[in-house]
Order: sequence, then C-alpha cells, then structure tokens
Amino acid sequence: MVTIPTPAEIRRIFSVPGRFEAATCRRRHRGIEVFGVLNTAGRPENVGITVCHPELAHDAPYVTESFAMAWSPARREASSNMELQKDARMLLPDIAQGIKDAAWLQYLVDAPSNAVTSWSFVPAGLPCVVTDEMIGATEGTSDLDIRVHLHSNCVQKCLFCPVASPAYSEEDQAGDLSFIIELARRVVVPARRNGLFTTFSLNADDLSSHKYLRSIMDVVYESAGCPLYFVVPANRLASPAVAGAFARLPGLVGLSTTILGATAGTHDLVAGRPGAFAETVRALKNIASLPLQLQGHMVLTSDACGEIGPTAAIIAHFGVDVQIQNLIADCWRHEVVLPRVTPDLETVRLGLEKACEKLLEASAKVNVRLSDFPVCAIPPALRHLACDEHPRASLYKYRFPDECGACVNQENCIGLSSTYLERFGASGIRPENRGAGITGEVI
Ligand code: SF4
Repeated sequence: MVTIPTPAEIRRIFSVPGRFEAATCRRRHRGIEVFGVLNTAGRPENVGITVCHPELAHDAPYVTESFAMAWSPARREASSNMELQKDARMLLPDIAQGIKDAAWLQYLVDAPSNAVTSWSFVPAGLPCVVTDEMIGATEGTSDLDIRVHLHSNCVQKCLFCPVASPAYSEEDQAGDLSFIIELARRVVVPARRNGLFTTFSLNADDLSSHKYLRSIMDVVYESAGCPLYFVVPANRLASPAVAGAFARLPGLVGLSTTILGATAGTHDLVAGRPGAFAETVRALKNIASLPLQLQGHMVLTSDACGEIGPTAAIIAHFGVDVQIQNLIADCWRHEVVLPRVTPDLETVRLGLEKACEKLLEASAKVNVRLSDFPVCAIPPALRHLACDEHPRASLYKYRFPDECGACVNQENCIGLSSTYLERFGASGIRPENRGAGITGEVI
C-alpha cells in the first residue's frame, strides 16, 4: 500500500503552466483519471486525462513501458476541434515528464483495482455523524464513496418529486458544512494516507441555494479532490451570473438541469410553476458555453411522451447532452406521488417510436442516453442509446411479473416497479421470447 498524495500535489504534477490546469482526480481501473481545463485556440475546454496500465492502452496516443495515456473532451462537440486534438496530443508527453517517477501512480497502475464501500446520508436516513465503521474503513482495502443530501429547498414543485422536505434553516446548512469538515478530517485524509481514494456525491433539493456550497466544495476539493457532478434546477441557471458562477466552483466537472417537455404547457404543468419552461430554455442557453460536461435531463411523464423528439432537439440545439429518464419508483413517497404522472409502457414505446428520427439526429451531435427503461419499451433502432442509471441490483421494488415469462431481455432489463404493476398490471409489456424476436405480442 502507498500513500496517495494530497489533491493539491496531484494538481501540481499534472498541470502544465499556461496550457493545462489540473483540477480533480479519481481512481479508475488500473490507473487514474485527472480532469482539468485545457486552453486551446482561446477557449478553455474541460478534458479528462487517463493514465493506465500499458496492457489497457488500446489506441492510446501516448504509451511508455510503464503506463499509457489518453485524453477525452467533456463536450462531445469539442472532439471535432482539430486545434484541440493537436494541443491535447502535444500535452500528453509533457504531463508524462512530470509523473514518470511517481511511485504511488505506478502502484495504482500495476495493482488490481479496489472494491468500493458506499455510505448515503439522506434526510430522514442515517444521522450525519462519522461512525466507527467509517473510521475503521480508512484502514481497510476498499475505496470510499460518500453520498450526502444537503439541506437546501427547491423553488419548483415538480409533480414527480418524492421529496417532501420541511423548510431548512441556515443552522441546518451550517450543520452540513460541519459534517463535511468532520468527514474530511477523520475519514478522507486518513484513508488517503492508507492508499484509498474517496469520491463524494453531493445532492440537494436545490444545491445552488445552499448558503455554504462554496465552502463545502472547498473542503471536498482539498481533501478528496474528486470530480463532482451537480443537478441544478433551471430557474437558478436562468440567471447568466448564477450559471457563470457554477463554472468557477472548485471540483465541478458536470452540470445537469431538468426539462419536462417541449412546450410551456407540458413543462410548467409538471414543474408546478408558470414561467418554468421559459427559464429552462434560458438556462440551457446560459450553460451552453461553460467548460463543463453538460446535460439536459428529461424526466418522462405521461403528458410528455408525445414531446420526446422536440425536447431532445431543443437540448441538442444548445450542444448539451440529452438524457431521457424513466421515472424510478423505489420508495414509499414515490408510491404516493408517481401514479398520476407515470406513463404506461405502450405510451412510452409509441412516444419513443415517434421520436426516433429526432433522437438519432440529436445523437449525431451530442451524447443521447435513454436511462432506466425496460428493454421492451425502447424501439430496437434506439437500443444502442439505452443505459442503466439505476442498476437493477440497487432497486428494492422492481421485479418481473409472470408475463415477462421467458423474455430473452431479462438479464439486461430493469423490470417494473410495484407502483407500475399496481397501476397498470402487465399492460404494455412485450416479452421477446427466444425465436419470436422483437415481434413478441404486446400484453
Ligand atoms: S417483457 Fe419483461 S423482461 Fe422483457 S423487456 Fe419487457 S419488462 Fe423486460
């Protein structure tokens, strides 16, 4: 086991003054990934630099006997920028000079990857205290993953939101900062001395209105130095000043905001507030130029199934990645709030079929993902865009009804929530039995 240098030291050895400013780092399979800003042709671009074992090099542009290096831009659009490609390729050997004698890095490249132990602190969940188990884990062999839902209220009242938070006070928010400081001092820093990385996920009803967000991010930046991805309500990002401020937050690598349809009528109804759609379009425009990984995130409700294509087109117009997210119903609050907005599978399938052309068009320009849908809800022409944001193993209330029978997709399928099955039964399920291909009957 080796000691992992402080995040500041890693930033120092990966930065090339005037060209690349390293910001965050996380462990990856037999190596690490460092995110930072590359200055190219007058525009800062967020890129990731990976260092891994030469056996995993594939077509990496820079390979030595000890390690292989590659790079990738945060924004897919940027990958066609020839100037950026040239600057990034020239950067790799210069970074390699700075890291070639780093024994800790060679250890990570040569050693098998660690398992990861996770803790989640959510309102009405675990109390926000550092436990003996967490302190013990700093001397273990697993990397650490800490998820904290901070105390900050959202102005929107989305129909699908399971959060029924009371109004949080400044005292609650000060408590969040104290907890993160305590985690850094007693868990993150000692774990690092023992060769373990820590990643944080920070969430809230509305992260942008947390009084101590900047201070919390400073603590994470200096202790764990991991990349952070935020989901922020569009009403905040509709202000150019607020959107710009996100680009300056230490450690922030990605930003996502939610869009609920392609028209004010559909979006505002689900957002629970008139004017929300106009703000969302302004927010997409404001974030479009930020040097971050950007995503417009469509949560698919029953009223919006006919607007999937135009919604994806609006997001892609701004060069922002698209995610169409199926509603996840996995806690008791979901069972209360979701039935009125959950579409049945046949409606989802018809909506995706209608949107097929626009989704494929968008995917030629930006990344498009269809997340957490049962396989049979997605037309075959779009299945290469499917992904699991919520792996099946992490869901408690999902199962396969008898009607799924011998469907060949079960192994890769999220299944159906108890909320869905209570509301719609097996309606809309289309099992694809061996030999029947995709023409299995709709139930
Ligand atoms: S029939 Fe059942 S198992 Fe098959 S894809 Fe649909 S939901 Fe999944």
